Amino acid sequence: MATKSGKYWVTWANAHAKNSNKVDDLEVTFRAAVKAFIKALKDAGATVDVSTTKRSDKRAYLFHWSWKISQGKCKPSDAKKMIGVDIEWNHGDLAKSKAGALEMVTGFGLAVPPRSINPPSLTSNHISGKAIDMTIIWTGTIKIKKKDGSEVSVTYSPNVNTNTVLHSIGDSYGVKKLKTDAPHWSYNGR
Ligand SMILES: [Zn+2]
Repeated sequence: MATKSGKYWVTWANAHAKNSNKVDDLEVTFRAAVKAFIKALKDAGATVDVSTTKRSDKRAYLFHWSWKISQGKCKPSDAKKMIGVDIEWNHGDLAKSKAGALEMVTGFGLAVPPRSINPPSLTSNHISGKAIDMTIIWTGTIKIKKKDGSEVSVTYSPNVNTNTVLHSIGDSYGVKKLKTDAPHWSYNGR
């Protein structure tokens, strides 16, 4: 028998569909790029907090549909089935279905509008180990080395999505910013 959407599924996913926050779990080429970029950031005096690297496909499924249902972007009955995840998204009452989905969004700590306007992807680069979520913080202006060794002055902005100078530095290492998702960087910017 299927279990209705809600907090239960956060606990379930944390036991059966874990995310990694280890850089070492990334795909080998992207891993090397990320390590070099993070080293440059830390050498410059920034703090880097990695929240997610590789994600399980079951977790991606739970992220995607809980986000869309909670934000009213689809009907609970639109959610597809996934083998191995016996969840019932439709509580038979729209408000209850949305509340169950929102418990999951909150429990998973997903970014919602305006911070992130995209639903978490079902084909995310995280699933193949080619994306990383990280928060990069520093004070004032620091000099960060690009891959070619040149130093670039970068001023901190609380909105990382608009800090194009920082994006260009990541780009030099092959770590590209997705500009609509605050913590997300990947091998192709998606
Ligand atoms: Zn991400």
